[in-house]
Amino acid sequence: MNKYKATILVIEDEENICNFISTTLSAQNYRVVKAYTGVEGLSIITSHCPDMVLLDLGLPDMDGLEIIRQVRTWSPMPILVISARTQETEKVEALDLGADDYITKPFGTSELLARIRTAERHTNRLSSGVHSVYHAKDLVIDFTKHLIQVRGQETHLTQVEFKIVSLLAKNSGKVMTYDSIISSIWGPYADNNNRILRVNMANIRRKLEVNPAEPEYIMTEIGIGYRMIEDEG
Ligand code: CA
Repeated sequence: MNKYKATILVIEDEENICNFISTTLSAQNYRVVKAYTGVEGLSIITSHCPDMVLLDLGLPDMDGLEIIRQVRTWSPMPILVISARTQETEKVEALDLGADDYITKPFGTSELLARIRTAERHTNRLSSGVHSVYHAKDLVIDFTKHLIQVRGQETHLTQVEFKIVSLLAKNSGKVMTYDSIISSIWGPYADNNNRILRVNMANIRRKLEVNPAEPEYIMTEIGIGYRMIEDEG
């Protein structure tokens, strides 16, 4: 029997934040390894093979984005970005380089644990194959039958709308950037202005949400992308 749930590497130069994360995760029976610099972090990634990395982007010796770039050349391990920076472009860049999600400082215990659980679930889902059904609250999506039921009623989506919803549902709980959605749906050479995506999202919300202005299934992360609520299994 494994004593720990998973080994998580925290690369963060601010000692109090590093300690907060470490205490929180240790209490939940995760094994925590700490690194205060990028070089140290990269060396621990190769020597300890952690199950997940929590990565601060603003490190003293190197840009956290460079760590994502390097790790992604050889490993799909979940990388959760922790950042105090408010620049949305940097978060988008981190996500497009292959980070799984981000958490903005200051954050609390429950938010941290929720993000970690989502990343873990997503990894398990990838290794166990894609589920054929998504279910959350009053929404059920059957990917193979191309059916969507909301509040007990079948809802008709266009092909593009269905593709967008399926993509978000298969990545539920995680934020998806506008560009990654656009290139998945319309191809890598699609015009990367968000207008067509926003139009489709407005239609999707009219069909799925009770109040499209206050969505409960697909949230907007301003300047970054969309996040669909976690699959309840
Ligand atoms: Ca920092």
